[in-house]
Amino acid sequence: MLGGPLMQFSDVDNLVATTPRVPRISDAAAAMAAVFQQRGYDSQLLARTGPGGTRTFLVVRLGDGSETTAGWAVVDPVDRHVFTSPDGRLVQPADLEAQPDWAAAIGGDPAWWISSPRAINFQIGDICNMHCVMCWQDRRRKQQPRSQWLPEMTAETLRAVIEPHLGSLHSVELVSFGEPMANPQFDEIVHTLGALGHQRRRPIEANIITNGSLLHLRRHARVLHQPGDLTFSIDAADGDRYEAIRLGGRWDDVVRNLRMAVRHPQRHAARRIGINMTVFAANLDGVFAMGAFAAGLGIDYLSILHGDGLDATAASGQQLERAHPSLVDQLDRIRRSFPWLHLNDYATGRTLPALPARTQPGRSFCGLPWRQMDVGPDGHAHPCCRAYSIDLGPAAEAWTGEPLRELRRQILAGAVDDQRFGACARCPNLGIADRAGSASDPLAVADAPPARRVIPLRAS
Ligand code: SF4
Repeated sequence: MLGGPLMQFSDVDNLVATTPRVPRISDAAAAMAAVFQQRGYDSQLLARTGPGGTRTFLVVRLGDGSETTAGWAVVDPVDRHVFTSPDGRLVQPADLEAQPDWAAAIGGDPAWWISSPRAINFQIGDICNMHCVMCWQDRRRKQQPRSQWLPEMTAETLRAVIEPHLGSLHSVELVSFGEPMANPQFDEIVHTLGALGHQRRRPIEANIITNGSLLHLRRHARVLHQPGDLTFSIDAADGDRYEAIRLGGRWDDVVRNLRMAVRHPQRHAARRIGINMTVFAANLDGVFAMGAFAAGLGIDYLSILHGDGLDATAASGQQLERAHPSLVDQLDRIRRSFPWLHLNDYATGRTLPALPARTQPGRSFCGLPWRQMDVGPDGHAHPCCRAYSIDLGPAAEAWTGEPLRELRRQILAGAVDDQRFGACARCPNLGIADRAGSASDPLAVADAPPARRVIPLRAS
């Protein structure tokens, strides 16, 4: 039974005013009221405080005087503002993925249905201590004066983006257009994540992709005390070939750091260690050897990536077809020989998880804009790593800002504006191209090359 006095929506706004950058509940209510009106209900929308004052209910009073809950918002110190569906269920991103048409049918602005991202992925800089032959970012930097390189993110910028979302945030990814640990404030950033996790009494997973060569410096190894994925980008299992691909990198340093990470006595129980290997002609015949190397070291996962866009790099002409027979054969041998090693095959596309089910004839659905956002070194937000050409504005306002709400609306409607949201409109996740790249290369249809990163998939 709902209790408490009737309130004005303006009172509710005052109640949640201490929660910055969330949708105003009165706006959400107005959107909902419009839906009831459209459907011809003789109804009035009210707000009531719940027991203890921690929840604010939206209540529909029907013409006969009866009341029913339309949804509710939580206002408490941890999960400060979560808005729920009209049938009272807490709306999770998975709900929207499973039933986007249900969300659309409810009406109103889909942006209201989830108030905070579960993951924020940061590109924290541009500086790199290596010159890998297949890296287009290295090629770009060589052609630019240093003054035009992207800035290095500060810990304070990261904190400002994360803090409003602390209640629901599960993970943060730290990657870079160069090497994340070359960011002068990398240690401060790791410390900030640890402190924010401590503050909310639940650690934030810190997922990092690194070339691994700087892990031993300063206090970088403290990242091992926190949960999350630490992925070493290593493209060969022997020193000569490694140093011929990762120019400036020293095999001995990287392998020492990898071993140190795997065996670190204070490694967090949920700190997973893995390897990314980008495959192209120069290392094609070394894929199985990498499997043996990874399995022998006892790492948690090995991700095999396809070297894309190589014509724009020093490895021009070395790009392979995705289903190259030798690659397929070596991956199969890794699976058979090292069944305990978790293998993520992003290269051939044969083992990618199924795309989200088609929810309407002729279209698929991408749930990322309800679940996560990417933040670049300039502090602006983007829908994901393959959509950096879409600027969602300053990250602090992006989650509930107009561009992301409009993108969600268009994804739900099944028609994404190619002019405004080109990377999404042409994204294979929305069903235009084949994700495995056999019909057309998904990377070729993106406006700009995505960041070189891969989030490991785990079976669980
Ligand atoms: S680019 Fe693709 S994967 Fe990224 S948010 Fe847009 S539709 Fe989703």
